Amino acid sequence: MAQDLYNIGIIGGGPAGCCCAYFLLKNGITPTIIDYLPLMKTILPTGGGKCNLAHAEYDFRELVKNYPRGEKFLYSIFSKFSTAETLDLFKELGIKTYTREDNRIFPISNSSKEVQEKFSIALKKCRVIKEKALRIEQTENRFKVITDMGSYNFDKLVFSTGGKSDYEMIKRIGVNIIEPRPSLTGLVTQEKLSELMGITVKNVYNYETGLTDDILFTHFGISGPLVYKISSLKSRESLPYILNFDLLPNLEDLQTILNSNPHKFIKNILSEYLPLSLCEFLLKSTNINPDEKCHRINGKQRDLILKQIHNFSLTIKSTQKDGETVTSGGVALDKINPKTMESKEVKGLYFCGEIINVDGFCGGFNLQNCWSTGYVCAQGVKG
Ligand SMILES: Cc1cc2nc3c(=O)[nH]c(=O)nc-3n(C[C@H](O)[C@H](O)[C@H](O)COP(=O)(O)OP(=O)(O)OC[C@H]3O[C@@H](n4cnc5c(N)ncnc54)[C@H](O)[C@@H]3O)c2cc1C
Repeated sequence: MAQDLYNIGIIGGGPAGCCCAYFLLKNGITPTIIDYLPLMKTILPTGGGKCNLAHAEYDFRELVKNYPRGEKFLYSIFSKFSTAETLDLFKELGIKTYTREDNRIFPISNSSKEVQEKFSIALKKCRVIKEKALRIEQTENRFKVITDMGSYNFDKLVFSTGGKSDYEMIKRIGVNIIEPRPSLTGLVTQEKLSELMGITVKNVYNYETGLTDDILFTHFGISGPLVYKISSLKSRESLPYILNFDLLPNLEDLQTILNSNPHKFIKNILSEYLPLSLCEFLLKSTNINPDEKCHRINGKQRDLILKQIHNFSLTIKSTQKDGETVTSGGVALDKINPKTMESKEVKGLYFCGEIINVDGFCGGFNLQNCWSTGYVCAQGVKG
């Protein structure tokens, strides 16, 4: 049997590891993938099962701005492989794609299962070991991977074990890890908001981040697109922290509205702008009877209502349990060579995907990180 030029091991057969394996194969190198799950299983829930595989931003200088961690690091990586190259990759795999109005890119099949299947077919030549890596030992320029069932030696080793990696295993061989924290997740509030569960408010402004988007009230606190972005931007901040929202940034003069509707209930007038149960909640929390007629609302009460609407304040005590879509933190970027994805601390050790301290917003950016770092990693391993 022909021997490979290198004996390459990839721990983790998710999007990043599989992308790296794909480009190694293209370069005539057959890697061994170790994963206790079927290849690409972790892509199945992405995009709600539809797989939002990339974002239609073709200028890599703009693309990098969607990564609260990794912006600078990704610059040279995206200059080699970003959205256009991702579409080429998917074309090669035989997956047709389309771009949605919001610039998110999906397979035409709207099926992450198709992505899993096409990658599995493309990687048929790889040796796949369905075991869990437990420990790594370094022996004279070689890596020994000890799994739950055996041990394997490699000249070069790629780690692509994702945001739920066993970071201790990597730390033990001398790799610097930035403490992992949840990102793109719902937030648990100190205030009890369960009576608002299921309510969505559109175009809410958040003062701390300067962002406007939709917010969803849940049984534990808040979620939705705005909250996901906030959780990402604040993932390194210590808890608890306070968030202030303007629930109606475009509200016209409230006094004029009250004057024009003197005999209507205050809750009914406000519910023309916000969901009724939220109006009742806001009024009750300012000790104003929701069934009070508008002409009976005095100036002090009006100001209290306005404060509730324009300065709705919540204390965030934790992130939603197991609610994270991605992990912020991971392998420290200043310890990785972005030209090759090789560790600067351990020669012959490479990283790609979410295991590194890169995480992006929702919209296909996190998978883009996997495709791009997977590609550069394969080139780096090839040398
Ligand atoms: C619900 C959900 C929806 C998402 N939707 C999107 C989306 O639409 N678009 C987008 O861009 N991003 C999305 N993401 C994020 C995206 O899925 C991740 O960023 C991406 O999967 C990371 O890929 P990865 O290969 O780095 O790691 P992973 O996908 O986590 O894969 C790591 C692999 O390593 C294996 N592994 C781990 N440890 C070991 C070990 N010790 N031994 C052997 N194998 C091991 C695991 O079994 C796994 O197969 C979503 C995430 C979630 C949770």
